[in-house]
Amino acid sequence: MSAPLAPRFSPPPLIDWAGIRADFPLIAGQDLIYFDNAASSQKPKVMLQAMEEMLSHSYANVHRGVHSLSQKATDQYEAARKTVARFINAADEAEVVFTSGATDSINTIAFSFGEAHIQPGDEILLSGMEHHANIVPWQLMAQRKGAVIKAIPVLDNGSLNLESLDALMGPKTKLLSLVWVSNSLGTVNPIPYIVQKAHAYGIPVLVDAAQAAPHMPLDVQAIDCDFMVFSAHKMCGPTGLGVLYGKRALFENLPPYRGGGDMIDRVSFEKTTFQGLPFRFEAGTPHILGAIAFAAVLDYLSNIGLGHIEERERQLSHSLRSQLKADFPQIQLIGTAPDSVSVVSFLLKGHHPLDVGVLLDNQKVAVRTGHHCCQPLMDRFGIPGTVRASLAFYNTEEEIQRFLLALRKTIHLLR
Ligand code: PMP
Repeated sequence: MSAPLAPRFSPPPLIDWAGIRADFPLIAGQDLIYFDNAASSQKPKVMLQAMEEMLSHSYANVHRGVHSLSQKATDQYEAARKTVARFINAADEAEVVFTSGATDSINTIAFSFGEAHIQPGDEILLSGMEHHANIVPWQLMAQRKGAVIKAIPVLDNGSLNLESLDALMGPKTKLLSLVWVSNSLGTVNPIPYIVQKAHAYGIPVLVDAAQAAPHMPLDVQAIDCDFMVFSAHKMCGPTGLGVLYGKRALFENLPPYRGGGDMIDRVSFEKTTFQGLPFRFEAGTPHILGAIAFAAVLDYLSNIGLGHIEERERQLSHSLRSQLKADFPQIQLIGTAPDSVSVVSFLLKGHHPLDVGVLLDNQKVAVRTGHHCCQPLMDRFGIPGTVRASLAFYNTEEEIQRFLLALRKTIHLLR
């Protein structure tokens, strides 16, 4: 008898999603439907445990003390940096800087890259779907340096007009700073393709991964981006902590953004010299506790597997999208790009998003309404804002059904 043919694809592993949901104290066993994960996600018990453990046994300031407790804290803080480097597959942990969030990371590069490389008339290329955090820091720099901001246009379905890239990139373009996953539409931009294209013109690329890092595996070497930024609080970690990844070749020659302790080599009133990577960009006492708790969360997410998280979130958001499309003629989806994850943005025709949000809140459904810090994108669509449901892996199909019921009731009440 011949051996049975091996299956072409291995079957998906059985993951205990109900058990995973039970790891999140704020939502486990509660009837709150938390669909505001793009704003900030809920926290697993491992984060609370890591914080308690650190505060109870290893807390002290880092990098300064000769005493053992400070060295213990320093070891844990630097181990957290290594965990982040592994998580994003950085070539070297010195390429990982802890900041206070994605916004702070972008401001750091906008200032520092601007000081080093921008001359009057130079261009910075963004896109029409950027969060304000990836517009305003560049505008501030452009005003200081006499640079010009350009933007890749957005098509009607909420994807980028890739055909415009060649016309927008040229010798004056000094940097492309682009969102990977849109926080308003859920559109997943083809970042590897765009990075390759920009590099062909010699243009370095910053990837705003604030909404990608929670939902998919990251590999900065495979993507080959020059900078990447994200915030811990959107990926089940603490607030007040973010990551700035920079490829060494470009990053290590940039001047400091903020001055203070830890980032210096030697200070005198005549002249100060600075540390190299990563400390040059970490002025002052860092968020020690946050970084250590974040590392515990990253291990937790890696144990589930970012690939599995992505698959589940794509399934959940696809289910929500297709049911809204099929059963709710009163609903207009905003953003129907072929590739999207987690975020479902919509309007109830004839009603302000705020009214929908309030009526959903009365039924214990948490969604976001408004412009989602993307006013240029809302202007592009000629709308004041949207209702945004954003899902995480700990959400369930049963919650989607209850959400749709609450939406039906909302439509009825507004009639
Ligand atoms: N970029 C994107 C795409 C975002 O969604 C956000 C947060 N909404 C940010 C940047 C800024 O993140 P933070 O407020 O955590 O700094």
